[in-house]
Amino acid sequence: MISQTIKDALAPCGLNCEKCFAHVNGNIRKHSIGLKAALGNFDVYAKRFETMLDQPIFKHYPEFKKMLDYFALENCKGCRNEQCKLFKECGVRACHQEKQLEYCFLCDEFPCSKTNFDKQLYERWVLLNKKIQKDSIDVFYEKSQSRPRYV
Ligand code: SF4
Ligand code: SF4
Repeated sequence: MISQTIKDALAPCGLNCEKCFAHVNGNIRKHSIGLKAALGNFDVYAKRFETMLDQPIFKHYPEFKKMLDYFALENCKGCRNEQCKLFKECGVRACHQEKQLEYCFLCDEFPCSKTNFDKQLYERWVLLNKKIQKDSIDVFYEKSQSRPRYV
């Protein structure tokens, strides 16, 4: 029996939704909100520091802030609760709902050609699910907790 904690975190494809930059409760979003708050009105200071500290790096602050705003804004509730906000063409979500299967690694069609993933994501999906089959989902989940999502 797969625990609810694991199902909340790991999407049917095996990727960790809770570590996705777009997840409402993910660390990337949380830290981005925290960093935005800590920076306050840094725009004004970035302009000053460029000349006062003679550091041209501060010229890039507006771009950095745009990225930070984007990370702080995204708020997906995860693949089991709503359509993936990033990858709208994902074929796994609809398929697992239709088949009533918790995970691709449990499917007798795995690895199938229904994912719509690009080559890189497809290879990662196959690798993740083979690891789950080998290690068990509990071990895979525990290991995934200390790894960044983007490796
Ligand atoms: S469903 Fe998609 S956008 Fe939402 S948390 Fe999972 S991977 Fe990220
Ligand atoms: S058919 Fe493919 S996408 Fe659907 S559950 Fe099986 S392995 Fe996953």
